[in-house]
Amino acid sequence: MKKIGILTSGGDAPGMNAAINAITWAGAKAGVEIRGYQEGYNGLIDNDYRLLEPYKTSHHANLGGTLLGSSRSERFMEPEIREKMVERLRKEGVEGLVVIGGDGSYRGAQALTRLGFPTVAIPGTIDNDIPLTELTLGFKTAISNVIDAIDKIATASASHSFVFVVEVMGRLAGDIALWTGTAAFADAIIATKEDYDLEAIHEKIQFSKAQHKRYQLIVLAEGVASADEFKEEMDAKFGYELRKLALGHIQRGGNPSVDDRILGKLFGERAFEYLHNDEGPGCALGIKENKVSEMDIEEVLGSKNEINRPYQ
Ligand code: ADP
Repeated sequence: MKKIGILTSGGDAPGMNAAINAITWAGAKAGVEIRGYQEGYNGLIDNDYRLLEPYKTSHHANLGGTLLGSSRSERFMEPEIREKMVERLRKEGVEGLVVIGGDGSYRGAQALTRLGFPTVAIPGTIDNDIPLTELTLGFKTAISNVIDAIDKIATASASHSFVFVVEVMGRLAGDIALWTGTAAFADAIIATKEDYDLEAIHEKIQFSKAQHKRYQLIVLAEGVASADEFKEEMDAKFGYELRKLALGHIQRGGNPSVDDRILGKLFGERAFEYLHNDEGPGCALGIKENKVSEMDIEEVLGSKNEINRPYQ
């Protein structure tokens, strides 16, 4: 195999650059050309790529975001566009592709695999919402960013005895809320719809107050409700004056954590090896029992995502 492509797609996640760098180094060692397609699937359609070389990617390996850029591509949803594109890639001698992204990007990788184009999907999303993997690239950095923010909120809250609700990302998955709420000793964690029990949360707040804790913290997953909605309901029902904050994009920013740098490196090296050794028709990578493992992308996308509980 002489040419391999990489792209990053969907939401950016810290650790994507570490994966790109690992693939670039592996390519250099094996004498394989590595093409970095710009702006997700759009670059693949438009043949907009740059050749990746270790001296360039090394400078990005420790940075968040993605050096290739990312986008959402409507055009890629068209089967005829994908077929033409695969035909062109084959003509140019590109023999495999690595896609780093979330579940939407996985569907794109699945479509390419179904066309017989070997594609390896790396789970790159802060949400930890890809089925069958215990961890996704970016999740550990995101939860560390959330904890930094909560620590700052806590000092102000303690001074003023606030009841504070912090809305965190995760789309429909509650992993960020569960992990950060646990780490912050939150008084209530709303990670799933079942946790959205206002009476139970009110009791927890009252119990915490009775222990003379200076402030009360509620961590809320965006997929369950917004901080605005939650505040409105709690204030109306129990007469609180909740403070609220939706953390937003700071959660995905900053440099990747140690875990995400290592994960990016290992995922990248394994993806390259799989394609270079022509090991199969394509796969999804993930973490199973703490090890980088290959999974069947059809099985991954056919499975329901379950919340990954911290060390339980
Ligand atoms: P994420 O990968 O973060 O979940 P999106 O859901 O926006 O982000 O998906 C990223 C891109 O993947 C989309 O813009 C589209 O180009 C491609 N994609 C999503 N769903 C499909 C699908 N069913 N078939 C083919 N491509 C898809």
